[in-house]
Amino acid sequence: MFDAYDELFDLALNIVVSAAKASPNLLVRKLSIGSARAARIIDEMEEAGFVGPSRGNKPREVLVTAEGVTSFIKSWEEEKNQRQLAKAHDEKQIKEFYEKEAIKYKDYDHTVFFPWPDVSACLNEKSSKHVYRTADDFKNDPKHKDIKCTGCNRGLDSLDVIYFKSPDWTWWKLAGRMGWLVLCDKCKKQVYFEAEVMN
Ligand SMILES: [Zn+2]
Repeated sequence: MFDAYDELFDLALNIVVSAAKASPNLLVRKLSIGSARAARIIDEMEEAGFVGPSRGNKPREVLVTAEGVTSFIKSWEEEKNQRQLAKAHDEKQIKEFYEKEAIKYKDYDHTVFFPWPDVSACLNEKSSKHVYRTADDFKNDPKHKDIKCTGCNRGLDSLDVIYFKSPDWTWWKLAGRMGWLVLCDKCKKQVYFEAEVMN
């Protein structure tokens, strides 16, 4: 919602609310920006409902309280994080993001790439509409013949192959993952993941 707004929008809003007046000149002075940019930021504030319409030579009315600014800044920060996540398409960044959510599950010793409650929710999924339709299709692809648990050395025939889909909130945060996940139930560890879809 706010992603099109100026990068300095939150700072500018604090300035305007502290001063209880919304004038471009104030922003020009405090933020060392040009008057065109300052005027645009004030227009954005009007659009967001934080300040009133232009009143000629008089400064615009400030319509937002300090509390309103605090809650706005919070959602602004969240949006910024989401935008950063949206850029974080590479595996390492998404992994770091998702690892923050990872917790140990049941008697599994290892913290894994995916949080166990999410994995658990997918345990019965043995088919997908994508590259491999079933877990057997996945197992039968020659390119998977060397997948082994590094703990017990058992191969695919003895491992659990499930179709993993991360929960809705991860898709909303552009960190959603979907694909084939191989687990060793004996060693209680994640052996392999092959993404089929990544947003
Ligand atoms: Zn194992």
